[in-house]
Amino acid sequence: MSTEIDYYELLEVERTADDKTLKSAFRKLAMKWHPDKNPGCGDSEAKFKQINEAYACLSDPQKRAAYDRYGHAAFQQGGPGGSGGGFGGGEGFSDLGDIFETFFGGGFGGGRQQSRRGADLRYNMEVSLEDAFHGKTTEIAVEVAQTCEPCHGSGAQPGTSARRCNLCGGQGKVRAQQGFFMVERTCPNCHGRGEVIETPCRACRGEGRVDAEQKLEIKIPPGVDNGTRIRLSGKGEAGPAGAPAGDLYIFLQVARHRVFERDGTTLLTRAPISFTTASLGGSIEIPGLDGQRHVIEISPGIQSGKQLRKRGAGMPVLQGRGFGDLVVEIQVETPTKLSAKQKELLREFQATETGDESPQSKGFFERLKDVWTDLTE
Ligand SMILES: [Zn+2]
Ligand SMILES: [Zn+2]
Repeated sequence: MSTEIDYYELLEVERTADDKTLKSAFRKLAMKWHPDKNPGCGDSEAKFKQINEAYACLSDPQKRAAYDRYGHAAFQQGGPGGSGGGFGGGEGFSDLGDIFETFFGGGFGGGRQQSRRGADLRYNMEVSLEDAFHGKTTEIAVEVAQTCEPCHGSGAQPGTSARRCNLCGGQGKVRAQQGFFMVERTCPNCHGRGEVIETPCRACRGEGRVDAEQKLEIKIPPGVDNGTRIRLSGKGEAGPAGAPAGDLYIFLQVARHRVFERDGTTLLTRAPISFTTASLGGSIEIPGLDGQRHVIEISPGIQSGKQLRKRGAGMPVLQGRGFGDLVVEIQVETPTKLSAKQKELLREFQATETGDESPQSKGFFERLKDVWTDLTE
């Protein structure tokens, strides 16, 4: 280890700096000295490694304590820290990968490998409310790019092999200065492969991938709603040149139901009741999605628009326990066809009502009379 520069000095922080300060100081410096930002500059690479090493030490409470006590000696072979091999390159660089991924959306480090994965795919699926309630297992057939078997994804005719691209030297990317920044572009000669195929595979025409129908079993759990996504890991498009496949996402849409509306785990429905049931009270039965008949009690004198709730008779909680509620909105129906007998009975009923309006309706009609007088005066 050639570095004897004080870690705190390297990171330009006080010895008392907390984790947050350390991290932000490190990020700032790492971005400044990243080799990708200073191509061809050996000094920046060395500096970058030092910063990285310093941060790997100081961000670990145990290592930091040892460093504070013994300095660099803590990490030399057989030193008081006893950690042996120390913590150079590898470990530090993987930490960096995580940070840079959040910064640049996968532009550096670990992200480079990710970009070689196959594409994620989206598949839209509509399910009935019944299926959303019970869950179901179904099979779908999707046309997805798969790794070509004869050439194992290389794209070169079996027996031949690809040649390294001489424009990008096999990197698949070329760099160009753009203002302050170095911009990386996909190599126009090899289209990012890093290789040029001279004898393309006949099965895939050099693509390394072929579209093929894939049958997939989809398990839909109970409680799914509009926008629920199911991820099928590795069932997306095959990666280029045999790289890992992307994921397949099933986007669910729940079809409209002829009886129930849904609001989260709440099921809503409207139930017509006769004016006699509304007046005298009684009960109605609502067939639930669970196949049971839910009895809803109607209290005498119920009004149209009243909502009655039955706990636990709604939709299941997705990946949880229990059920939401069933809400029944009452609609009192006025009869339109009456038999002579019914009319007679109602007239008889009407006769008993005379002069017996409810206090509310009495008030209403009096107010109406006032309005009428105002208008005619
Ligand atoms: Zn092929
Ligand atoms: Zn190239």
